[in-house]
Amino acid sequence: MYKKLEYEIDPDSKCWIVCSHKPNGTGYIYINKVYDKDYAHRLIYREIYGDIPPRSEIRHKCGNKKCINPEHLVLFNLEERCYLEN
Ligand SMILES: [Zn+2]
Repeated sequence: MYKKLEYEIDPDSKCWIVCSHKPNGTGYIYINKVYDKDYAHRLIYREIYGDIPPRSEIRHKCGNKKCINPEHLVLFNLEERCYLEN
């Protein structure tokens, strides 16, 4: 059963902190809808910016795993990182 995603805005960091869902073992909020399952910050990113390219992940600039403020989310390309490391 899908529960509506609700959040509180932290006045200092401007983080949108999810309060309707508990984080899982990784510290991230996992959303389990009938037609779509993903982490909350990834769902928000996809809703606003479109699909996440393959071999990429969404990271938090603010470091708060429960934050879903789109302005705090950044697309991280895993291939670029591999390239830099080689
Ligand atoms: Zn944040």
